[in-house]
Amino acid sequence: MEKIYETIQAELAPFDASLVAVSKVQPAEKIERLYNCGQRVFGENRVQELLQKIPALPDDIQWHLIGQLQTNKVKDIIGKCAMIHAADRLKLVRKINEESAKQHVITPILIQLKIAKEESKAGYAFDDLIAELTQGVWDEFENIRPCGVMGMATFTSDRDQVRQEFTSLKRYFDEIKERFFSDQAEFREISMGMSGDYDIALEEGATLVRIGSKLFGQRNYS
Ligand SMILES: *Cc1c(COP(=O)(O)O)cnc(C)c1O
Repeated sequence: MEKIYETIQAELAPFDASLVAVSKVQPAEKIERLYNCGQRVFGENRVQELLQKIPALPDDIQWHLIGQLQTNKVKDIIGKCAMIHAADRLKLVRKINEESAKQHVITPILIQLKIAKEESKAGYAFDDLIAELTQGVWDEFENIRPCGVMGMATFTSDRDQVRQEFTSLKRYFDEIKERFFSDQAEFREISMGMSGDYDIALEEGATLVRIGSKLFGQRNYS
């Protein structure tokens, strides 16, 4: 695990990209091993699991919530995670803002955009997001900090298709940044790429890659 960690970090360095170590299902002991290598950013996809892990692990870990988030769970994690990757619908964004205001914090979020052709993949349709931003629907959200975009490619062995989807996420990012966030330096992240496709994601402009199984080994869901 330590060796593959060093390898991955060396692969990311020329691209100036950062690693989100996806630790879902992994025990605290394995997370600590990576922590001891210097890793501080870990990604979890379930609120309940994240809440169990936080008190068991060092305080200076930055937890990223990468999975789909139900609005009724938002209040449980506000103030506890460094970034929410899957802000994928207005109702959720509104809720994150509302709970953040109640707790007097500003929550960094990534806007999840739909790039995969599969119906099942979540995320904003680009046009819907543009419409909301154009209409100023987001202007009242003072307790969120949009930090960029996130996307998941189609689960396919067709690497050209994956590349096209990542290219479209980069294009979406550029347009959203230019039109709505050009004066906000913190709007700079493109979260794309997992164990099987992060090499393509890096070439297409990823700033954050979310890697689980390649780092920790296959997940054992028991
Ligand atoms: C599990 C997960 C990953 C990591 O997947 P691997 O293939 O194990 O690297 C990345 N992003 C999200 C949203 C995930 O749920």
